[in-house]
Amino acid sequence: MNPVCPIECRKGAIEILEKLRSAGFETYFAGGCVRDRLLSGSPSEYDIATSARPEDIKKLFPKARSVGESFGVMLVRMQNSIYDVATFRSDGPYSDKRHPDEITFSDAKHDALRRDFTINGMFEDPIEEKIIDFVGGKEDLQNRIVRAIGDPNKRISEDHLRMLRAIRFASRFEFSIETETANAIREHSHELRGVSRERIGEELRKMLTNTNRGVAAWELQYLGLDRFILEEESCMNAPTRVGRLPASATYATALAAWIFDRYTSDSDVQAAASNWRKRLLLSNKTYDDLSIILELHQKLYFWDSLGTAQQKRTSASNLCNSALSIIQCEDRSHFVHIRREILNLERSGLAPERLINGNDLLEAGIPPSSVLGEVLESVYDAQLEGSITNRTQAIQLAQAIYRDFLDS
Ligand code: ATP
Ligand code: MG
Repeated sequence: MNPVCPIECRKGAIEILEKLRSAGFETYFAGGCVRDRLLSGSPSEYDIATSARPEDIKKLFPKARSVGESFGVMLVRMQNSIYDVATFRSDGPYSDKRHPDEITFSDAKHDALRRDFTINGMFEDPIEEKIIDFVGGKEDLQNRIVRAIGDPNKRISEDHLRMLRAIRFASRFEFSIETETANAIREHSHELRGVSRERIGEELRKMLTNTNRGVAAWELQYLGLDRFILEEESCMNAPTRVGRLPASATYATALAAWIFDRYTSDSDVQAAASNWRKRLLLSNKTYDDLSIILELHQKLYFWDSLGTAQQKRTSASNLCNSALSIIQCEDRSHFVHIRREILNLERSGLAPERLINGNDLLEAGIPPSSVLGEVLESVYDAQLEGSITNRTQAIQLAQAIYRDFLDS
């Protein structure tokens, strides 16, 4: 969910707009904030578009910083928020399929026409309380449609990332993708190969951390983009687990759920995780969490065959709830059964303090060696199972396990 911009943030945006207008520059709120205000009344940020050039903006707001002067974008701070203030522009050809080779400063209409989708191409005049719509965005918003501005084939060939943006907006708002736009996405899907992994990974992260992640996964598969994002075979299994996850599920949990929707065998699941790590440039933290969730899920799946110690170790993991949320999507009665058993196990402690540590073993005459760790873990298993309850029993058990190691 995008954070909602507090009311002060709108006030700050109006202050900037009024200052630009008083200096004679045509100025509006632009793009996503207009869409979000019409949809829900609460944008997460305000972008401002103006006829003022970067040098004019700098004169009016001397502290303004340039973020892409060649694109005419300045950052202006007002009332503790930072706003993008961008000069109306037209984009030149996109030979790198990512950025226009050049831009020319232009007027509001051309600035609307360079934007990606009609719902993202409107302006708002907050003083006159009017929407300025050169692209039919209002109607598409009412009809809940994501439609490319202009010729969809041309707009998608300019910037291939727009394919993913279309799916992201359609899933986030539960809109449909207009037929010609959807056809163009299908036709150009293979060109996603040329988009950087950073940009693809970031779009996928935004889609899969949104509540409507199931719709996004489905659309990606339906339009054939999964193949090129993940560089693996297209999949037509319904992404039911992804779709049923709780709203707050993390990115790693959603990735794990999607892997289980696509693969059944353990080796395929493992291979997909390491492939996705590379394809989506997952952070170490996301990948580590993903690997742990996959492993915990397998344990929870075979829960009844685990001993008490393994059950306690599994339940004590801080990612157990993530793995359990996937089980909940697969088999509700198994989920309820595990939850009930975890509540029982909690009574004797899921992760009690260890009765003994390495120093205790040394004091008991067990010399430092590579097996020390294994001895300690076996003793802890016995403690978790309740077969030993005090330090003396723990040391006796450690000595017995160590003797077995020596004999074997
Ligand atoms: P979000 O709430 O996800 O930030 P947004 O619509 O504000 O949605 P941004 O990526 O912040 O999206 O971009 C702001 C605006 O810039 C968009 O609404 C759109 O008008 C324009 N825009 C952004 N990316 C592109 C693109 N790749 N091609 C054309 N126009 C774009
Ligand atoms: Mg935005």
